[in-house]
Amino acid sequence: MAFHTIRHKRPPFVGLAGRHLQSLRRRDFVAGAALIDGCWIDSEQRDLVLDPASGEAIGSVARCGAVDMNTAIAAAERAFSAWRALLPARRGAILRSWASLMLDNADELSILVTSEQGKPIAEARHEIAYGAGFVEWFAAEGERAYGETIPSHKPDSLLQVRMQPIGVAAAITPWNFPVAMITRKAGAALAAGCPIVVKPAPETPLSALALARLADEAGIPAGVFQVVIGDAIELSKPLLSDPRIRALSFTGSTEVGRLLLEGAADTVKKVSLELGGHAPFVVFDDVDLGKAIKGAMAAKFATSGQDCLAANRIYVQRGIYDAFVKTFAAAIAQLKIGHGLDPATDVGPMTKLSVAEKCRAQIDDAVRRGARAISAPQGTGLCSLFVAPTLLWDVTEEMLIAREETFGPVAAVLPFDTEEEVVTRANANERGLAGYIYTDNLRRALRVSELMECGMVGVNTASFTGPPIPFGGWKQSGLGREGSRHGLAEFMEMKYVCFGDLAA
Ligand code: NAP
Repeated sequence: MAFHTIRHKRPPFVGLAGRHLQSLRRRDFVAGAALIDGCWIDSEQRDLVLDPASGEAIGSVARCGAVDMNTAIAAAERAFSAWRALLPARRGAILRSWASLMLDNADELSILVTSEQGKPIAEARHEIAYGAGFVEWFAAEGERAYGETIPSHKPDSLLQVRMQPIGVAAAITPWNFPVAMITRKAGAALAAGCPIVVKPAPETPLSALALARLADEAGIPAGVFQVVIGDAIELSKPLLSDPRIRALSFTGSTEVGRLLLEGAADTVKKVSLELGGHAPFVVFDDVDLGKAIKGAMAAKFATSGQDCLAANRIYVQRGIYDAFVKTFAAAIAQLKIGHGLDPATDVGPMTKLSVAEKCRAQIDDAVRRGARAISAPQGTGLCSLFVAPTLLWDVTEEMLIAREETFGPVAAVLPFDTEEEVVTRANANERGLAGYIYTDNLRRALRVSELMECGMVGVNTASFTGPPIPFGGWKQSGLGREGSRHGLAEFMEMKYVCFGDLAA
């Protein structure tokens, strides 16, 4: 398990993050109680929350068990009929108040995110705006959950399709975007008319619990938005086996996604999965080098590389390969590694030690097999969760980094010669979340974007996510979509109604 049990309730608040948290205006954001059926639930045993940049304890949270999860599911079931019966505009108004409370409290929320997740504070601020954006967008989209009228194939009949809320939903969310991965799921579920029970990652419970405080303040009724914290296996068992949970949405690794899909089979839940990526980032030699470098820096080092959209295999055409490597190395050398609460920091720590170790194993493997490497200078006294931003070049397809997702600040550059070759190499993987193409040739951009086997493609841009787009992957990168009208549909059932014998 990724967290540590304590029996006392007061966290020590000593390091940089601890001091920032201690000075929060909103003391309730660090209270650490779960929100179940409209009540703040504490427990005798609490789990420590750690600052990944220092390893220091910065808070503690209640440890809920299966009984608490069952209470939450029952409360959600009771709350369902009243929540679905509200006019979508009324649900939208409540959701809009939740989003504006997030924005009103953005400074304090971003301190929480950086303190427990580690990302640079400017990125945390961006995440709050991005996260609130999903709630605002779905508040309006809930009013547009249109059905259809079908031209009838039978005499004297009227054929209707209605979209109705699926029932109680559950979300198991990750630590890399501790706010936005909750709001992207909850915004859609709540707008569709479904209560949702959230089980956040154990590394980042404070951000989730702060969202729960704001949901309560915004007037989201008891049982409609609940956050239950504790051991993943213990809490996910009732979520999977209980037939009252009709939809399950998960973001995390492909391995855990597979287990959840299997676990949801008995009760035939609607499952949506946002799993790992292994994005190819393809740079053709007709493109402006500066634009491609800017894109590669953003696609690789945002969230300190802990992003499922991160560029994992940077394919560069032979004609600009040497110039690209030289310029990219110079840009990486400028990155400042440090505590996310220091505004000068570009790259923070990895949130989990296992992620840092995977990065180091991939670097060692690549260098052993003949890749060349250069790392940005690393400050002194940094703990083992820090990984220096590293460029690996002359990477080949058999190296681990070309076969597995990295999830850290390690950039792998591979040379290629032809368009046909790079498309084959980009697609030769069981992951298919995102891909990037940099070229000034429009015909080539159209051809390659058509052939890439993934759910999302950025052409000459590294920035394409947001509430209106269908976020999701092909192959083993996931099932279903989040954001956009397709994200709303994940929490709805279609009902076909045939009115017959209409002739007077
Ligand atoms: P993970 O193992 O998939 O864990 C994600 C969440 O699922 C955590 O809350 C975890 O809780 C929970 N979980 C683990 N095993 C479970 C089970 N059998 N049943 C129910 N829930 C379970 O991800 P990770 O270890 O944190 O990260 C590993 C890799 O996953 C990363 O390196 C990255 O490749 C990928 N990842 C992808 C995304 C994304 O945005 N798609 C996000 C995060 C991670 P516990 O920690 O308590 O086990």
